[in-house]
Amino acid sequence: MKVVEKFVSINGESTRAGELAVFIRFKGCNLNCTYCDTKWANEPDCDFTEMTPEEIARYVEETKVKNVTLTGGEPLLQNEIGILVDRLYEIPGVRVEIETNGSVDIMTVQSVNRPSFTVDYKSPTSSCESRMCMTNYENVGKEDTVKFVVGSNEDLDKAKEIIDRYGLKDRCNVYMSPVFGMIEPADIVDYMIDNNMNGIRLQIQMHKVIWNPDQRGV
Ligand code: SF4
Repeated sequence: MKVVEKFVSINGESTRAGELAVFIRFKGCNLNCTYCDTKWANEPDCDFTEMTPEEIARYVEETKVKNVTLTGGEPLLQNEIGILVDRLYEIPGVRVEIETNGSVDIMTVQSVNRPSFTVDYKSPTSSCESRMCMTNYENVGKEDTVKFVVGSNEDLDKAKEIIDRYGLKDRCNVYMSPVFGMIEPADIVDYMIDNNMNGIRLQIQMHKVIWNPDQRGV
C-alpha cells in the first residue's frame, strides 16, 4: 500500500473531532477538486513508502492510539484496504474510520469488520460533483458521516437538497464545513437558521485553526 504520511495528531473532523487519532495517508486521488489542500499527495512523483497491511497495523499498535483514520488522496483506491481494516480491528479497542471523497462505492470495501465512513459530497464549487457515487448516500448508517464542504450559496442549496432527498439527518451524522477562506462560517450558520436545519452540524477544520493552514503532518 502506498503511504505518503503517517502520524499522530487529533482528529480535525467528524464525530471524533478533538480526540487523538493516528493518521495513515495514502497516495493518489481520482478527483481534482478546486480547493484541494493535499494535491501534493496526488502528484505522480510524490514520494511514498510501500507498506503491507501488517506493517501499517504494527505502526498503529506502537502508537497506542485507538482512533485510526485512513485518508488520502482517496484511500478506497488501495487494493488491500479491506485486509488492512480487518487487521486493524485485531488491535484491542481500535476504531477505524475511512475518509472517502464520495466517488467510490463504500460497499466495495472487502472487510469482515465494517469501518465507519466519512463520505464527502463534492459540491458544485469542487468541480467534481458529477463524479459522486450516489448509492453511497443510500448506504450510510448511524456510525457514518456525510460531509458537505461548502464554499458558496449554490453549495449550501445543493447540500440541503441532498440531505432532504436521502433523509440523511435521520440516518447518519451530517456535517457542513466551509471551504477555507471562501465562505464565512457565520454565513453557513445564517443559512442553517433560515432553513431550520435541525440535526445538521457546522464543523470548522480544527487543523487549520490550531496550526498553519498549509502545515503537513498534523
Ligand atoms: S477528493 Fe480530496 S484529495 Fe482528492 S482532489 Fe478532492 S480534496 Fe483533494
